[in-house]
Amino acid sequence: ATPTSIMVGTGRAAEMGVLFRKGDALQRLEGVRVVAFDKTGTLTEGRPELVAQFPAAGFDATEVLRLAASAESGSEHPIARALERAAESVTRPDAVEAVPGKGLRATVEGRTLLIGSARLLEEEGIATDQLRGALDGIATRGQTAVVVAVDGKLAGALAVADTLRPGAAGLVKGLKARGLTVAMITGDTQATAQAIAAELGISEVIAGVLPGGKLDTVRDLRDRFGAVAFVGDGINDAPALAEAEVGIAVGSGTDVAIESADVVLASGRIEAVADALTVSHATMRNIR
Ligand code: ADP
Ligand code: MG
Repeated sequence: ATPTSIMVGTGRAAEMGVLFRKGDALQRLEGVRVVAFDKTGTLTEGRPELVAQFPAAGFDATEVLRLAASAESGSEHPIARALERAAESVTRPDAVEAVPGKGLRATVEGRTLLIGSARLLEEEGIATDQLRGALDGIATRGQTAVVVAVDGKLAGALAVADTLRPGAAGLVKGLKARGLTVAMITGDTQATAQAIAAELGISEVIAGVLPGGKLDTVRDLRDRFGAVAFVGDGINDAPALAEAEVGIAVGSGTDVAIESADVVLASGRIEAVADALTVSHATMRNIR
């Protein structure tokens, strides 16, 4: 491989808003067999909105939302922002404890709140059966259920919906046409992830992954398919970005993700993943 061709390729890519931070990533990208995407903030915009409320018997929807948004008011999670925007009033929580990849526990106005995935509530011994129908409907629509318990009692479910990035479906189609396997990795539930994957034409779905688990998922994909390119945006994507043969960070992502990546999509356009592959193949062809 001549350093000159690599430089030319890197330059061409930069013109398209694809920044190769390391020259050898251009070479490694050519050998990639599977492209794995983080879901939230990578395949989706990462700006969820509250779209529906399902209070449990004996609870008022407005009050449940107010308490939940208050509990989340110090959280950096995109779901927290969605609840804050939707609530009419928000008070500061007295205490908060995050449960990574699942939700949080908080005290608001003397009441104990537990907010997050149905799995989180079930693990704490709070049955979610009463809202089974609502939870199934939320997941089938590709939305995320934010389940709320107040003082140990199931209080309701809030449905939040994120928008797919405009170029995501076209990108997946193009990657598959190149013969690549496309995978989606997410902390969301299998049911929600499947609904979104179906819209995008992704068959390889790894859901319910806790924040520390994305790195292991990249290793599993490598064992099954070969060299991995992982595309992500979040703080918890950093280990997977570093582990993959080629880590690709969305330019609008967090600093930690960008620092851990080999390639940065400066434009913030997810479609640039295809441009990166095109330049990589063209460069390596010229070298041989
Ligand atoms: P991802 O960004 O891949 O969806 P996260 O690890 O951030 O994954 O979260 C996984 C799941 O845990 C979310 O889909 C959500 O159900 C729940 N969750 C995590 N943090 C919060 C939070 N602050 N509030 C409500 N739910 C949360
Ligand atoms: Mg993300």
